[in-house]
Amino acid sequence: MYNISKIRGDFPILSRTVYGKPLVYLDNGATTQKPRCVVESITDEYYSVNANVHRGVHFLSQQATNLHEASRETVRKFINARSTSEIVFTRGTTESINLVASTFADSQMQAGDEVIVSVMEHHSNIVSWQLQAARKGIVLKVIPMNDRGELLLDEYEKLFSPRTRIVSVTHVSNVLGTINPVDRLIEIAHAHGVPILIDGAQSIPHLPVDVQALDADFYVFSGHKVYGPTGIGVLYGKESWLEKLPPYQGGGEMIKNVSFEKTTFNELPFKFEAGTPDYIGSTALAKALDYVSAIGMKNIEAYEHELTVYAMQRLKEIPGMRIFGEAEQKSSVISFLVGDIHHFDMGTLLDRLGIAVRTGHHCAEPLMHRLGIEGTVRASFALYNTKEEIDQLVAGIGRVAKMFL
Ligand code: PLP
Repeated sequence: MYNISKIRGDFPILSRTVYGKPLVYLDNGATTQKPRCVVESITDEYYSVNANVHRGVHFLSQQATNLHEASRETVRKFINARSTSEIVFTRGTTESINLVASTFADSQMQAGDEVIVSVMEHHSNIVSWQLQAARKGIVLKVIPMNDRGELLLDEYEKLFSPRTRIVSVTHVSNVLGTINPVDRLIEIAHAHGVPILIDGAQSIPHLPVDVQALDADFYVFSGHKVYGPTGIGVLYGKESWLEKLPPYQGGGEMIKNVSFEKTTFNELPFKFEAGTPDYIGSTALAKALDYVSAIGMKNIEAYEHELTVYAMQRLKEIPGMRIFGEAEQKSSVISFLVGDIHHFDMGTLLDRLGIAVRTGHHCAEPLMHRLGIEGTVRASFALYNTKEEIDQLVAGIGRVAKMFL
């Protein structure tokens, strides 16, 4: 049983108004709202446990350390990693990708070596590699897509060469909603002896993910997109790969011994966690993962699928509607334009009706170039959205469209 009124009651912000109208929050691809248990975890830990982790003999420090490491175990279980050594806490998806791009390029790539990305990547999975291209002379190759927004697997296969060192692709597009066939993408990369990073920023909140079943080499995501706090994210890496990569940043936590002559580095995952970690954030992230696990990722997936199918059908009834992203496998992200109405005008006017959507290029400018547009309006649904809210969106778009007739 999917108890939507109980779920909505868990998110206090959903009952607020904007411009005197009930809030219809459809910008979940950018960030999700937080259930009470996540917010309370933050205040509770600051009020009653707060102490720096890992290096204290005193009671509070040990309690904070236990909470932090228990959270790592919660993350491990959530994505079914083999060991907590494979779970590195970062600031988010962007930092996780930068960590891998930088350390992988440094240790595994030479000038002329190649990384394969896709045309639908978020800037964080393009620019992180471009920085390495500028620094090390590595080359980016790009998987194209068809007009429905599905990656072309035959073209992907053709991109592999003896210089291919890594593939880095998104699980779910933050613009098109396409759920990429990551199992096939991974299989193909491995058939060429190449490791693969999966950007899970838009999949982790919506689909069950099992990194061992997928056999992903790296899997990254952000806490704030899965009902957790901002400022914390995860890098999952196979132990064999994380062992091979050098440290990313220097500082406390990541060392074993330091002298001016020689420094040795800590074991996994601490080798990649320089400085005081966001231990308050890790506990709150674990609360968020417990929260979605209690509802069930399969239930969330099924509920959101129903919302998406309903929204696609309702939106298509609007004259002049153009939807970008009609993949067979589609998550709860819908990008659109209506007639000649600028996405910014549509977003601004919907906002006055209390409806929060995102407008612009969504940090995916190369994809906008491929689509031949500057930007879109994007509605993205979460586990707490309802068909009534979709009806309000459709009515809102109708009202805006009338103003432009
Ligand atoms: N990758 C994808 C697919 C995203 O949608 C986003 C954020 O929108 C990111 C990466 C970057 O996430 P963050 O800003 O939390 O690091």
